[in-house]
Amino acid sequence: MAVNVDKEKCTACGACEEACPVEAIKVDETAEIDEENCIDCGTCVDECPTEAISE
Ligand code: SF4
Ligand code: SF4
Repeated sequence: MAVNVDKEKCTACGACEEACPVEAIKVDETAEIDEENCIDCGTCVDECPTEAISE
């Protein structure tokens, strides 16, 4: 399992990339989750200002 990004809501602010403890997020035009490395901690879900990430 990994979190999902709603690309319509993502503004590419980078907050989730900064917050992820295992560097499983890369933000370019939108946030991309590295599903292999995501540990489902939920930090990015809490940090995203636009509620673009869900578990
Ligand atoms: S749930 Fe945790 S490990 Fe997974 S992408 Fe978000 S911050 Fe990173
Ligand atoms: S914190 Fe939310 S809006 Fe910002 S880059 Fe990540 S998913 Fe996109």
